[in-house]
Parts: sequence; C-alpha cells; structure tokens
Amino acid sequence: MSAAAREAELEHWSALIEGLLDPVWLVDATTLHIVAANTAAGSLLGIDAWSLRGRAAADLSATAEDIVFWNEVAAGLTDAILSDSVVRRFDGAIVPVTRRVSRLGTEDVLVVTLRDLSTQRRTEDELETRVAELRATLESSADGVLVTDLGGAIRNFNRRFATLWGLPEELLAQRDDRAVQDWMRRSVVSQGNDGDDYTRRLNAIMDAALLQTTDVLTLHSGKVIERVTLPQCSRGQPIGRVFSFRDISEKLAAKQRIEELSHTDALTGLPNRRLLADRVEFALAMAQRNGQPFALMVLNLDRFKHVNDTLGMGLGDRVLLEVTERIKACLRNVDTVARLGGDEFVLLVHHADAAGAEATARRVLDAMARPFTLDAQSFTVTCSIGVALCPTDGDSLDELMRRADAAMHRVKDAGRASFRFHQTQTDVVQRSHMQIDHAMRQALVSGLFRLHYQPQIDLRTGAVVGAEALIRWRDPVLGEVSPGEFIPVAEESGFIIAIGDWVLGQAVRQAAAWRANGVAMPVSINVSALQFQQPDFPERVARELKAAHLPPQLLELELTESILIHDAQDALHRLQALATLGVQLAIDDFGTGYSSLGYLKRFPIHRLKIDRSFVSHLPGDAGDVAIVNAIIQLGRAMNLRVIAEGVETEPQRQFLLDAGCDEFQGFLYAPALDSPSFESRVGVAPAPSSVVRLIKK
Ligand code: C2E
Ligand code: MG
Ligand code: MG
Repeated sequence: MSAAAREAELEHWSALIEGLLDPVWLVDATTLHIVAANTAAGSLLGIDAWSLRGRAAADLSATAEDIVFWNEVAAGLTDAILSDSVVRRFDGAIVPVTRRVSRLGTEDVLVVTLRDLSTQRRTEDELETRVAELRATLESSADGVLVTDLGGAIRNFNRRFATLWGLPEELLAQRDDRAVQDWMRRSVVSQGNDGDDYTRRLNAIMDAALLQTTDVLTLHSGKVIERVTLPQCSRGQPIGRVFSFRDISEKLAAKQRIEELSHTDALTGLPNRRLLADRVEFALAMAQRNGQPFALMVLNLDRFKHVNDTLGMGLGDRVLLEVTERIKACLRNVDTVARLGGDEFVLLVHHADAAGAEATARRVLDAMARPFTLDAQSFTVTCSIGVALCPTDGDSLDELMRRADAAMHRVKDAGRASFRFHQTQTDVVQRSHMQIDHAMRQALVSGLFRLHYQPQIDLRTGAVVGAEALIRWRDPVLGEVSPGEFIPVAEESGFIIAIGDWVLGQAVRQAAAWRANGVAMPVSINVSALQFQQPDFPERVARELKAAHLPPQLLELELTESILIHDAQDALHRLQALATLGVQLAIDDFGTGYSSLGYLKRFPIHRLKIDRSFVSHLPGDAGDVAIVNAIIQLGRAMNLRVIAEGVETEPQRQFLLDAGCDEFQGFLYAPALDSPSFESRVGVAPAPSSVVRLIKK
C-alpha cells in the first residue's frame, strides 16, 4: 500500500475510533508504534491525542510484563487478548485498565481498546475496606454472630460464635452448613416434650422472614445463651437473618446469687424473712385449698445477749450456727427454719396440728438442752418457743407471726426454756374463769376453803380489838388462788352467795368458839354485793348468830361503798334490819368509791376502813396525808370509828396514831393468820403490853 493510501486509510480509522467512548488507539503491528488515538485515549493518558502518534505502544505500559506482552503481540497476534493491566499517564500516575488488543481485520494494525478501571477499583477498594471493617467489627463483638440466607445457608459468622457453641475446627474448615447446624441442635438441652423443640423454634424463626425475637437456650456445656435474631434486609427485602448469641451464664449466676442473698440470712444461710413469707404464703394457699394445717413457731434464744457478752460476738455467731444445725435436725426436709435476725428463728412445720407442733417443739427443746461446747467451754443455751396454728389461730402471715410471738413472750414471762401455744386473751380469761368456777364449786364441797384472820389493833392501846376474816383457798391443781382472783369469778357466776354463806357460818362459829374460850373477839366478814342484795340476807345472818349463840355485836359486816349506792333505798332497809339485829357495819375500802357522803348520815354505819392505797404512801405523800386526815376528821364528826388497812411500816402507824386514827390492820402487825396461829399470836386473853412489844419489834 502506498504511503498516501495508508495515510488516507489511517485517517479513516481515526475518524471511526474518534466516535467511541472508550479510549482506543491503533498500533502498527510491525513497528508497534501508535498510529492513531482517540480523544478519550488522550484524556486517559493526560495528553493530546495527536501527540500519541508515533510513540511506542510499550512506552505507555507501566510494567515489565507489559513490555514482554507487546513483544509477544509482535510475534504474531491472531486472537484478541483481553487482560487487566495498567497504563502510565503522562503525569506519571498509574491507571488500572482492562485492555483488549485485537487485529483489525487482515490489516497490519492492532486495535487497543481500554476501559478505565479507576472508579471500579476505587469502589472495590472501598468495598474491601468496608468489608474488612465489618469483619473487624464482627470479630470485636462479644456476642457470637451468625448470618444465614433465607434458606438457612451460612453466609458469615465470627470466631466468638464458634467458641460459644464449641464448634470444632475441622467442622469450621469443612464449611458444611448442615454439620454446623446439626452440631448446634445437638448442643442445646431440649426443653420440649418431643425432645426437639430447638428445631421447631428455629424453623418457626426461619419461616417468618421479618421476625425479630429473643430467647434463651441452655447448652449441655452448662452455658446459658441468649439468642437474638433479626432479619437482614437489602433494598427493603429480607435476604437473610442475623443471629447473635450472648453468653448470659454469668449474668444469670450473678442474678441467682443476688436472689439467693436477698432470700437468705448471711450468717446461717437460712431463709430470711422474705423467703419465709413466700413459703408461708404457699402453705396458706395449700391450707385453703386442701385444708392442710401447719404450724408457725417463733423461737427465741434465752438470754442470748448474755452469751454474746460473755463469750464475744464471734463465739456468739458460732453458737447461732450450732443452734441452726440443731433446729434443722429436728425438722423434716419440707419444713423451713428461717432466721429473722439476732437470736430469733421461725419454724414453718407443714401438715402439723397441735400434736404435731408440740412434738416438734419438744424435739427442738430437747436438742437445745444438750450442752454446747465451743473452744473447750461448755455452756447451755435454752430457747422459748411460741406456736401458732393455721387455720385455728389465723390465716395470714401477720396474724400467725403476731400470735406465735405473743405466745413466745408468754413463755419468757413464765420463766423461759419451754413452749406455748397461742391463746387468745379471751380464751385465757374464759378458760381460767371456767376452770376457777368449776374448781371453786369442788373446793366448797370438799371443804378446801379456809378462813384466815387478820388482827385489828387499837392504835392507842396496842390491843387486838378485832379480826378480819379473809378467805383462803389452796387448790390441788391450781395451787394457791387468791381471793382477788376467785372472788370476782364467784361474783360473776353467783357462786359468791354460797361462798358468802359458808364464810358467814364459819366466821360466826369461830367468833363463838373464841368467845367460849373467854375471848370476846369481834370478827369482820366481807360481804359481796350479790350476797347483800339477797332479800333474806338479814335473816340468814340472824339465823347463823342464833345457831352459834353469838352476840350480834361480835360480828361486823364489811360492805363497800358501791353496795350502798346501788339501790340505796333497798340497801337502807336491809342495813336497818341488820343494825336492828345488833351487828356492826363497816365501809370497806373507804375513799375508793364514787359515792356521795350523804349515805353516811342516813345509814347505820359504825366504822370506816381507810383503803390501803391511801395508807401505803404515808406519811410522805401530801395528797394521801390530806385524804387520810380528812377521813379521820369525817369519822370523828360522824361519830364513826376509823381503821386503816394495809399498814406495813412503823412510820405509817405513827402517823395514823398522831392523826387520831382509832385502829389499824396490816402486815406491820400480822397478815391474815389461820386460827391456831391467830390464837397463839394474839393470845387467848391478849395482854395489851405484849401486843405493844410485838409492834415495836
Ligand atoms: P379487803 O377486804 O380490803 O382485804 C384486805 C386485803 O388486804 C386482804 O387481801 C389482806 O390480806 C390484804 N392486806 C392486809 N394487810 C396488808 C398489808 O399490810 N399490806 C398489803 N399489801 N396487803 C394487806 P386478800 O386476803 O387477798 O383479800 C383481797 C380482797 O378479797 C379483800 O379485800 C376482799 O375484798 C376480798 N375478800 C377476801 N375474803 C373475802 C370473803 O370472805 N368474802 C368476800 N366477799 N370477799 C373477800
Ligand atoms: Mg375487807
Ligand atoms: Mg379493804
């Protein structure tokens, strides 16, 4: 081809490649020099496209391989070659390209087409960085992460995932999804009845592409794993699922420990008040549903403070631990012993009625009775137990605790080291009333009542001028019961009338006997309201006097102010009848009633008895001094004798003497004495001098 023709042909090709978007240049296959290049090629290389003409193709190559490449091309290129390479821009920058070199038909011209890969590479690099970052993020997570596609095929996971699930290395290397999934399934402790609830749950998760859930898996390794799963979306469409697994074993253990601590006593490890409350609530529910009774016992160590003080707190703690063990040994496993703090324990005994509770309480008392030996020191620690029964004594924790506690305190009051059941206050009172009432009737039949006589002394002469008959009762079961205790019961039941009759007869006979012995000793008896209100009371008195042949003036009736105020008109008639009879009348416990003094004028009274409560604070209490003085003055003004009760000290006696009081009775001289003692003390024919000597003693 002529040079001109070739030139024209090249111009033709130049025009053609100029229209292409990609950089293109034509290379003479023989000389490997560029013969034409388009504008895009110029811009890629940073040079005017015209300036490229005549340059060696290899000059634009950046690598040694490229130079080799062009030599090979020169050796005879038949097929097109596509390769990734780089070109060097004229400003020295390297540009990644995809290069295609092909022969232009049968011509000796090679077409080099390039595609600038800079943008793509940049994107790829960026992507790679991003992926690396993500990987690092994934790996730095404390959670195990597993990413799957919608079908469950594994797309990604981190090391933590592998260690958490204990996946063996070889399994990871195999990249066998099924094996990994199988491993996971087998690692989980099944909680379902069918034994494969893990698979069922997993399937349910996978079936709902957009589901977000959190659940907890327990592994055979002991680990407890929290599983959170989220859908993975791309352009708003779910494309897979991310599972993250977190080991919550420690957290759970810590939580359990906290729970445990908040439910147990730090020293003994026993349940504390909170846990006890839970258990009692449960027992209450059972009692309600199945009628199962139970007992709640409050146990308090006796004088534990003393143990702490003498042995020290450290040893005190060890005693508490030993006590804990002893109590536990007395209970069944189902029962509970709790420590509420200090030396206070509570026992919850299931299925226990009164007999069961008693047996348990006795076991505990026996166990505690064994001596304690710590650091070669031996000592005993006793305890007091109060028992409340459900449902008898209450159906709430509060109620049962309160009652058991009250019962425990009653044990303490009664001397400790024992147990007691709860008894309502009215129960106690009613029971003792009933008991007393019953026993009283027996006592009267069996002749267990006796009369004691308290001497009454003339303050000025010292002579014993009378005796107050006071009833005494020693019961074989109840022991010594004071009149203060049983007289009110007898008054309530009406039995006082029978007792009063007996006292009247007995006292009258005693006075008659003394009189027969030559001692005219007036005897006073206490008369109850009910007794006095009997219409035939004066006749009864008359009958007794007559039967014993006792002059009426040797009998005195002590009445209280309240008797006189109540039904005053009736009382007046009866008093007059008695006065007519010739018996003496005294007002007992004078000053304690709310009566008006008007009755003193109307009633045929002979004597006032100043109540003990005014005497006991003499002579120091100015108020009592004033009252006692007033009573004495009143008696004098009304022409009544005045006797002071409950004189216990010499200063009291002296004060009363100085104040002009007539007589006294009280422990200073003698308490109420049985007849023989009274006789020997007072003398059948008492000499005033001997009495004075006794008083001064
Ligand atoms: P009362 O009639 O005021 O009897 C006096 C009480 O004071 C007696 O108590 C007596 O033992 C006690 N006493 C006497 N001297 C002293 C003293 O110096 N210091 C102190 N602290 N106390 C002293 P007792 O025997 O326990 O009788 C209590 C009450 O029971 C009597 O009070 C009386 O109201 C009633 N009572 C006693 N015997 C009979 C009875 O036969 N019939 C009736 N209806 N009531 C009786
Ligand atoms: Mg009296
Ligand atoms: Mg009195």
